[in-house]
Amino acid sequence: NDVILSVKELKKHFDVGRGQIVQAVDGVSFDIYRGETLGLVGESGCGKSTIGRTLIRLYNATAGSITFKGKDVSQLKGKELKQFNREMQMIFQDPYASLNPRMTVLDIIAEGIDIHGLATGEERRKRVVELLETVGLNEDHAERYPHEFSGGQRQRIGIARALAVEPDFIIADEPISALDVSIQAQVVNLMRRLQKEKGLTYLFIAHDLSMVKYISDRVGVMYLGNMVELAESDELYDEPLHPYTEALLSAVPIPDPKTAKTRERIILQGDVPSPINPPSGCRFRTRCPKAMDICATAVPVWKEAKPNHFVACHLYND
Ligand code: SF4
Ligand code: MG
Repeated sequence: NDVILSVKELKKHFDVGRGQIVQAVDGVSFDIYRGETLGLVGESGCGKSTIGRTLIRLYNATAGSITFKGKDVSQLKGKELKQFNREMQMIFQDPYASLNPRMTVLDIIAEGIDIHGLATGEERRKRVVELLETVGLNEDHAERYPHEFSGGQRQRIGIARALAVEPDFIIADEPISALDVSIQAQVVNLMRRLQKEKGLTYLFIAHDLSMVKYISDRVGVMYLGNMVELAESDELYDEPLHPYTEALLSAVPIPDPKTAKTRERIILQGDVPSPINPPSGCRFRTRCPKAMDICATAVPVWKEAKPNHFVACHLYND
């Protein structure tokens, strides 16, 4: 498998004043293969959006490394940085907030074309119209403003804007969370079609586990700044190893209860602790139904417990 992006021991801490540090992402490692969709799931505040924003350089990493197409992302400058800014694009959760209300759809989608000097005049307009058609809109929409569109249409505009600079890697940060359930599948299907047509690689960030399974080849589970498990989607959903993943999945309705194994609902006690002062040892131990003595004193190692199935939990240490 061809690795397009490699993340090693990534940390992103935020100084929030009075000597307090939020350990939003604290030592996360994973690879993404060219052409795949890696899903990233976890409750809000687990660090999944922070990872996305650090990968695309909206934030500087506190420690660790990000390698994209063999190059250290933190070292990019000049032409290479400009190229990177084309190759990696982001789609945001709230299509309302991410589209400038005073710009026409034409100018919104053409922004990247302008920045990167890809086309002007008639050619620029032609490209935008093609992009509109690619995402299921059309030329009649070009002169309109974001408020004239529904949430699903606005997300299509956001996707067209991302595609305008011909990226090969797209970070989608909860792209469907703000949409009606009936519209979510349409946007996900559009993303899948575009992935096939254009050979795109996706990092798909979400808290809805059922939709993540549907779109992702592999899924990583985050808890309080750590990745706790990573596996192929089917395996993760059918045979989760980490107690946190088990709990998350126990809340997902089983599509066909006759054929699928029944799952006992696991209710976690307490709230997610603060990322300013996370628990010692395993960060999940204050809520883990299977916690042992060692979980309070030793940080569980990230290890490949089964082929291509990674987990950080003392239950899987020999
Ligand atoms: Fe639970 Fe311990 Fe595993 Fe953490 S390391 S998930 S506390 S069993
Ligand atoms: Mg988020």
